[in-house]
Amino acid sequence: MDDYRKTADIIRKSKNMIALTGAGISVESGIPDFRSAGGLWDRYDPAVYASIDSFRKNPEKVWNMIFEMIEITSRAKPNKAHYALAELEKLKLLKAIITQNIDNLHQEAGSSNVIDYHGNTKNLVCMSCHSEYDVSDFSLAEKKIPCCGSCGRILKPSVIFFGENIPQQAMYSSQRYAENADVVLVIGTSAIVYPAAGIPRTAKINGAVIIEFNLERTELTSGLTDIFIQGSAGRTLPELLKYISQ
Ligand code: NAD
Repeated sequence: MDDYRKTADIIRKSKNMIALTGAGISVESGIPDFRSAGGLWDRYDPAVYASIDSFRKNPEKVWNMIFEMIEITSRAKPNKAHYALAELEKLKLLKAIITQNIDNLHQEAGSSNVIDYHGNTKNLVCMSCHSEYDVSDFSLAEKKIPCCGSCGRILKPSVIFFGENIPQQAMYSSQRYAENADVVLVIGTSAIVYPAAGIPRTAKINGAVIIEFNLERTELTSGLTDIFIQGSAGRTLPELLKYISQ
């Protein structure tokens, strides 16, 4: 109770609050994180199936995982945590969301300033001629691997695989937001995947208050986090919103 009150007070006084979100915020929308038993990542080892080397060597094999990933993300709907962040933006308290998720759920919940740090499953890209496509241009339900209309190469979702660089614009603007933030909400991330995990660390060095929302303690909790709010994001974020609106 005290933590909610204290956090609400900090947020009301903030001038440049941002949020960093991870897979945990979308678990209640039915998208498994890396730990969810029986989820996508239980069946497809991310070290193999989410690696750019694997995609280059054998795109057909990796597309087995991609078909499922796109099906899961396109079926999912935003949950109460996504809507709570959209509401914080409407209240002019949240300046930007930097998300590691590729599911487009923040945008679907109504957030307008979202940095897709690891890309988005809505688009496909040709690694050879760089042509871009909307995923809806293809009928992926039939499990036909999409190819580039210009050069014929197998397309890749414009999500960042392990071994690929973060898009320059996302990297640059996230760094600027992190340096200028006075409060960072860190939600549903294990904070071990870099460079995204560096964002709260950069913000903290520059004086930001770090408020973490997670089911369990993470790498950040004891050394970096100022306030740790434990629980599912679909419960804790709407609860916090109530305190802010009081
Ligand atoms: P992670 O799987 O490493 O960690 C998820 C974190 O969320 C854990 O700390 C877990 O305790 C917490 N969590 C789980 N359910 C929660 C809930 N209901 N409320 C609050 N916290 C909850 O995820 P990560 O740190 O984001 O790193 C995984 C990488 O995999 C990211 O780079 C991301 O791009 C990708 N990924 C994305 C999606 C997606 O788009 N939804 C899903 C899986 C993985």
